[in-house]
Amino acid sequence: MTQKFDVVVIGAGPGGYVAAIKAAQLGLKTACIEKYQDKEGKTALGGTCLNVGCIPSKALLDSSWKYYEAKDHFAIHGIEAKGITIDVPAMIGRKANIVKNLTGGVAGLFKANGVTLLEGHGKLLAGKQVEVTGSDGKTQIVEAENVILASGSKPIDIPPAPVDQDVIVDSTGALEFQSVPKKLGVIGAGVIGLELGSVWARLGAEVTVLEALDKFLPAADEQIAKEALKTFTKQGLNIRLGARVTGSEVKKKQVTVNFTDADGEQTIVFDKLIVAVGRRPVTTDLLASDSGVDMDERGFIFVDDQCATSVPGVYAVGDVVRGAMLAHKASEEGVMVAERIAGHKAQMNYDLIPSVIYTHPEIAWVGKTEQQLKTEGVAVNVGTFPFAASGRAMAANDTGGMVKVIADATTDRVLGVHVIGPSAAELVQQGAIGMEFGTSAEDLGMMVFSHPTLSEALHEAALAVNGQAIHIANRKKR
Ligand code: FAD
Ligand code: AMP
Repeated sequence: MTQKFDVVVIGAGPGGYVAAIKAAQLGLKTACIEKYQDKEGKTALGGTCLNVGCIPSKALLDSSWKYYEAKDHFAIHGIEAKGITIDVPAMIGRKANIVKNLTGGVAGLFKANGVTLLEGHGKLLAGKQVEVTGSDGKTQIVEAENVILASGSKPIDIPPAPVDQDVIVDSTGALEFQSVPKKLGVIGAGVIGLELGSVWARLGAEVTVLEALDKFLPAADEQIAKEALKTFTKQGLNIRLGARVTGSEVKKKQVTVNFTDADGEQTIVFDKLIVAVGRRPVTTDLLASDSGVDMDERGFIFVDDQCATSVPGVYAVGDVVRGAMLAHKASEEGVMVAERIAGHKAQMNYDLIPSVIYTHPEIAWVGKTEQQLKTEGVAVNVGTFPFAASGRAMAANDTGGMVKVIADATTDRVLGVHVIGPSAAELVQQGAIGMEFGTSAEDLGMMVFSHPTLSEALHEAALAVNGQAIHIANRKKR
């Protein structure tokens, strides 16, 4: 007999699994379909984020940072650390255990919340029927009042550098190296390229990042991007802007990469090459030709502001739809859709999705950049505070970077918080909370911040917006 559900979710990444749990919590009979299998051939939940994205990359970023600190930064504290070595397979093994714990945790949450897991490939048919094909090829049809498509994204391939997952790898392959490559190339200076490049640079690889654009981190505030480029270059990352990769050849476990830049045609030989040129939506065999669901011109499933597709009762969330490809954006969309299905009037504030680059120093921001606001003709006041003037940052020997708060010159309402420095992601979240409640720079300035904390840098930057910083000379008002 055909199984019937109130909600069927296709994909168990941060968009899909969160939507499924929320729907079940709201009393809806819910199933979630997932096809991804781990190396042992077992269905693994959590999607890109838990298996080959956010979590494993952060595990390697944290391990490699500890190694780098022990090797290069302990001496200043008077700690003698001799003979520091890195056991790469052990580091990769630790990462694998974290992934296993977390993906197993999602399976546990499904059980605890009564979400039915259907293992296999899901395909939306006409009339909100969903076909599930197991790894053994057997199919079943389930019926749903509502369907949530959450099939995520995968790395973009470029013809000049075809991925073989040996010498030329994508982000997934770059999380699995068993030794430190001597010379590592990275195509793309986006978030993923910078994070993965940083991991292997800290462990001793000589890293060159080839970026086609002339501008570094175009989405970030220019002042922050400039500081980041200076810092990463000082750390030893060779970031070549305006460098477009045109071809590559793999020979004897090395790859010769051809690219063009302002000086003409160039060639570099690498031991490994990471292709990190962006991600594209996964919609292969997801929709029957008569499903009625529309895509946009770039292959994303077309949705409105509430994630409804062109078919009533069918929704799509996460990387497979427009907007930032971020786990927290996917999850919040999942919650919004589950709540709307349950009859609530949920909305999502797309203006306040924080962005983070987990390099060291971290880079994070929420709201608009100074350049965006200028282009929009909004008069602003800006306050900055460098970590070099923060007692807590000095104590931690981590004084690079700054906090920048941008406020409307007329209303003082905070419109953007941008941070490069220690715990940037956590500090920006404080800004985001304030902005959600319509904070002014003065409001932030009037709050009591614990001393000594890195958060005080946010306090001081907010005070600096109106020329009232205490621990730094204020800019004269023009
Ligand atoms: P996904 O996580 O891609 O999940 C989709 C799931 O659907 C997959 O499990 C897939 O197997 C399944 N699926 C697809 N089609 C079908 C089908 N037809 N039937 C059944 N199952 C199907 N984001 C952050 O916010 N912070 C970070 O630090 C961060 N770091 C990242 C680091 C790396 C290296 C990468 C690659 C990504 C990172 N991201 C990060 C991005 C983040 O992983 C994605 O934004 C997030 O996973 C999107 O969630 P999703 O649920 O939309 O899709
Ligand atoms: P993101 O989309 O943030 O992951 O960043 C991917 C980056 O890769 C973008 O900044 C692109 O400009 C860059 N990129 C794409 N194709 C090439 C190429 N052929 N050579 C160098 N950089 C590229």
